[in-house]
Amino acid sequence: MKALVLFSGGLDSTVLATQLKSEGAETRLLSIDYGQRHARELKRAEKIAQALELPQQVLSLPDLGPLLGGSSLTDDKVKLPEGHYAEESMKATVVPNRNMILLALAGGHALSIGFDTIAYAAHAGDHTIYPDCRPEFADAMETALGLADWEKLSLHRPFVHLSKTDLVNKGAELGAPLHLTWSCYAGREIHCGKCGTCVERKEAFALAKIPDPTEYEDSTPV
Ligand SMILES: [Zn+2]
Repeated sequence: MKALVLFSGGLDSTVLATQLKSEGAETRLLSIDYGQRHARELKRAEKIAQALELPQQVLSLPDLGPLLGGSSLTDDKVKLPEGHYAEESMKATVVPNRNMILLALAGGHALSIGFDTIAYAAHAGDHTIYPDCRPEFADAMETALGLADWEKLSLHRPFVHLSKTDLVNKGAELGAPLHLTWSCYAGREIHCGKCGTCVERKEAFALAKIPDPTEYEDSTPV
């Protein structure tokens, strides 16, 4: 398998990249700046790529953000919700059609470099809030990508039925650089500890019974 990983610098895609490398797949990383509020994750993505010794490319499309307004991740006017990840209020963090856009860009790049697979790390905990993380979306996207070129292109999504806790466990087992990963949506110097993804991150380490290496502004346990 020659896999191009859609690589945000978050925990999920870091575990995915580590797993592919450990399986011996030829692996490259693609990180995309789509004008996200939490651009800090891109800096972490570079560090993680170095730690994993995997080639990484960063595609800079910050002008995409204003076109995808209405989400608290791309629009400063929309307040970032705090609380539990699975709450209805977290729908404010949905970026319209993000994964189709990012997977389409990754698909073009994968084909251009002769890769046969795109890998993305959507997991089961994402489904309740993010419609473009549902298995049905991934299935349809694979069909579309398979029809987009004469060459075969698969969409590898091994985590769609796993929980965030499963991914923390898997990452710890594989020796993934979890301490370098970035989850927080608030876009400050360290993890806020209160936004939905920080809460999800804290909860996943706690449930996995793996020490959480993250520095939080608010380290109150969930
Ligand atoms: Zn946060």
